[in-house]
Amino acid sequence: MRIGICPGSFDPLTNGHLDVIQRAMKLFDKVIVAVAHNESKLPTFTLEERLDLVRNAVSQWPSVQVDSFDCLLVDYAEQVRAQAVVRGLRAVSDFEFEFQLALMNRRLNERIETIFMMPKDTYTYLSSRMIKEIARLGGDVSAFVPVHVQQVLMDRLSARSE
Ligand code: ADP
Repeated sequence: MRIGICPGSFDPLTNGHLDVIQRAMKLFDKVIVAVAHNESKLPTFTLEERLDLVRNAVSQWPSVQVDSFDCLLVDYAEQVRAQAVVRGLRAVSDFEFEFQLALMNRRLNERIETIFMMPKDTYTYLSSRMIKEIARLGGDVSAFVPVHVQQVLMDRLSARSE
């Protein structure tokens, strides 16, 4: 069984993430969306919130599982017997960091491969950070995130402005 992991902070999930997950579904029997605790990154949404947003979005895809991890990615990959890590490559700016990460992960565990997938061109400029910024300033993010994510972003914003 071919198992691929899509790891990330998903703070929050965007259509760009979903695009990569759907592409990974074509290559793997099982895709595990692995949400990193990443407390050091001071995420806007709690781990449980981020997990719920992902679960809600992928529930119609039987080959996709959602999980969290708080250890080295390659150790997590071993635990779940995955062959590969799938990362999205948006632009040249992603390359430097992703290249370092992939080579370091290979150094830590040669068995785990890293696969890069390019999203649909309209998502190449999309990031969770940018979405939060647009939402904070009252912009329309409906083209970039699923409806339930948009709702949560709006709720969080109105909570902040009270
Ligand atoms: P991280 O904190 O690990 O960068 P992210 O949640 O930002 O986590 O991203 C998780 C994965 O999704 C990464 O591989 C990232 O490159 C990819 N990704 C994020 N946004 C997009 C997008 N718009 N198009 C394609 N891939 C994306």
